[in-house]
Parts: sequence; structure tokens; C-alpha cells
Amino acid sequence: MSKHGFTTTILHGDRRQGVEHGAVHKPMHPSSEYAYKDARELTAVFQGKSGFSYARQGTPTTMALEAKITAMESGAGTVSFATGMAALAAIFTTLLRRGDHLVSSQYIFGNTNSLLGTLQELGVEVTMVDATDVAQVEAAIRPNTRMVFVETIANPGTQIADLMGIGALCGRAGLVYVIDNTLTSPWLFKGRDAGAALVMNSLSKYIGGHGHALGGSVTDTGLFDWKGHPNIFESYQNGPSTTWGLTQIKKKGLRDMGGTLAAEPAHRIAVGAETLALRMDRACANALALSRYLVEHPGVARVHYPGLPSHPQHVRAGELFRGRHGALMGIELAEGIDCFDFLNRLSVVALATHLGDTRTLALPAAHTIYYEMGAQRRAQMGIADSLIRVSIGIEDEADLIDDFDRALRGA
Ligand SMILES: *Cc1c(COP(=O)(O)O)cnc(C)c1O
Repeated sequence: MSKHGFTTTILHGDRRQGVEHGAVHKPMHPSSEYAYKDARELTAVFQGKSGFSYARQGTPTTMALEAKITAMESGAGTVSFATGMAALAAIFTTLLRRGDHLVSSQYIFGNTNSLLGTLQELGVEVTMVDATDVAQVEAAIRPNTRMVFVETIANPGTQIADLMGIGALCGRAGLVYVIDNTLTSPWLFKGRDAGAALVMNSLSKYIGGHGHALGGSVTDTGLFDWKGHPNIFESYQNGPSTTWGLTQIKKKGLRDMGGTLAAEPAHRIAVGAETLALRMDRACANALALSRYLVEHPGVARVHYPGLPSHPQHVRAGELFRGRHGALMGIELAEGIDCFDFLNRLSVVALATHLGDTRTLALPAAHTIYYEMGAQRRAQMGIADSLIRVSIGIEDEADLIDDFDRALRGA
């Protein structure tokens, strides 16, 4: 991170790298290929010199975005991807091999859960544990364990992993600690502070923030010595051993699997990121106000939100996330209120999947995003059939409370 604050650094990042004509944004570079006058120069890029060759491996536009994310996460380097799932797939498939063991939080994004199922079919052993308790993570570790994976605030139940405790454990055991920081974003939390080796972000969510671009990223914090990880190919064991992991992710993950972020969405995400801190603060404040309103409402049976003192990890959230509690909430309505009927009465709130948007979005979680995983796994994740997931946006607080109030009264 520069000597400046979080938002100043993002706002002036491009300009300080020197953009043509004094432009304040890094321009979009749509070129597929990059030409050189000297064949030796072209060759040098293929042999490791910094530069561009074919856009599947990145462009000046994605590189500028990656520099911003690295600064936001106080990391050592970042690789961007077309989506958050492409970023996660790159981490798991390039760093784990058949016979390795992964310990994962049981409270994870539905598609990540599905991806870990694929990984198991490929011969990686996966154990899911309640990662809010570090003792459960520790008890799951085996001689062949290579990696521990957690999310910061889980969706839709808002469980918060023991991020610091697991970091200390991974440090002692020499395990690759991967944190999906999507629900908190680097404004509320930096994986580096918990000792993570890698921090993944879905850029489609808070960082881009406006529901109009998909992207994902993997940031290496620089804390992990990849010499201690047996799965780094010999050709990537060059330079400082703290950089090997990200090199392998970039070559085997981005280049070979091809989930590359195009210049146009990279630009949109970079513009969105300029207001990340402002948007998140507003959304978190809205969420806290809405949760306090809903928890008192007779039409609501339960509110899952870390800002409420009744939340099991309320204190942990207060310590870890800059005094904020995120902007995602799970709501269970009182017996006798039909959740579909309630949802249909909302008018400001949009009925849609996605989260981390400027707009407030709601959907019945068990029937949609967690439908495919089945009733048994949903029960393990604490997802009741009536659970409504709400991603709170930056609307005017009174309008949101009024919208929920009307819908509850009508239903
Ligand atoms: C959305 C999301 C992802 C996947 O990101 P995409 O950009 O949609 O592929 C991964 N993890 C979490 C926690 C998410 O919310």
C-alpha cells in the first residue's frame, strides 16, 4: 500500500503509473496480440521478461486493475480472471493434486461447494468442517493436508470463520491458507492480517459493485514460502520462493485454462472500485439499521446478521471488520407468512440473485442458489427452507425500511 489511504490510492493509482496524454484512467487495450520490432525482445517476453504477448495472459488494462487490487489487499501480486469461480478453480486445480487433502469451511458459496465436489472426483480429498471453530479445523488435519479454505462472512447464514485462529494454525502446520474475501472486500478485511497465503475476491460483487461486470482475482500476500509446498512445477521454481505459487496460478490457471478477464469489464471494475469504501460503508450502515428494525418485527422469526448482539460471532465481526458487519443478511419469516408472498410485495428491493450490488437484492435461498445441493447439505449449512437472503445496497435507508415494512404488513 502507498503512503496514502485506501481510497486515495485507488483513485490516483493509474495516473501515478504514467498514462498516455495525462489520462486519469488506464485505457482499455482490446489488442489480442502485442507486436515487437525486435524478435529478441519478443523472445525475451516469452522467457520471463515482463511484457505482453497474447491477451489470454493479460493486457495493460488487467495489469492496472491487478495493481489496484494488490494495493487494496496490501499483497505482493495479483492475477485477475473472468469470474470469481475461474479464480477459485485456478487455485484449487493448480495447487492441489490427486491424493492431497483440503480442509474447507462447510459454510461456503453454493458453486464453490459444487466445485469442491468436482475436485473430489478428480482425487482430491475434501473435509468440510465448521470453521467458526478453529479446533474443528485442527482436528481435520491429516498428514496429506495441503490447504485450508474459508470464506470471511458466509452466505446466506452469515457465519464468520475464526480467520485469525486458522491463520495461526496454518502458519504452524505450513499449510496454504486461502481466504475468499468476497463478502467483506479488502475495505473491511485484508487476508494478509490473518496470515493468508492467497486471497480470492469475486470482483463481480462489492469491488466492481454496480452489477454490470464479472471478474475475479487471486492475490498472493507474499507471506507463504512456496518452497514448503510440494506441488510447484520445476519450471516455476525461479526467483524468490514467495512468488512461485502465483506464477503457477498465472501459467497453469490463467494461461492454460483460459478464464481471462477482458479489457472492457476490467475497466468497469476498476472504475467501480474507486468508490468501494464509500459504497460499503453506506451498505453496512443500511444493513445494520434494517437488521435492527427487522429483529423487532413480529412478522420476522430470525435475522442472521453479524451486527446484531445475538449473532454467535458478533464480537469477532466487530474486531475483524473495521467495526462494520457486512451488508448481507438472512431472514426467516414468522410461521404462517409465505416467503414468496412476502417477496412479491417488495417494490424497492429487486428479486434477483447476486450480491454486493448498489441495489438491494433478495431471493429465497433454499429454492434458488442453494437448490442444487439438496436438503441434507442445506441443513448442515443452516439454510432453512424459508430463509430469504438479502444483499443490502446503498439506497436511502428510510426507503428500504419502508419497503420491508409494507411487504410484511401485506403478507
Ligand atoms: C459470487 C461469489 C463467488 C463467485 O464469483 P463470480 O464472480 O460470480 O464467479 C465466489 N465466492 C463468493 C463468496 C461469492 O459470493
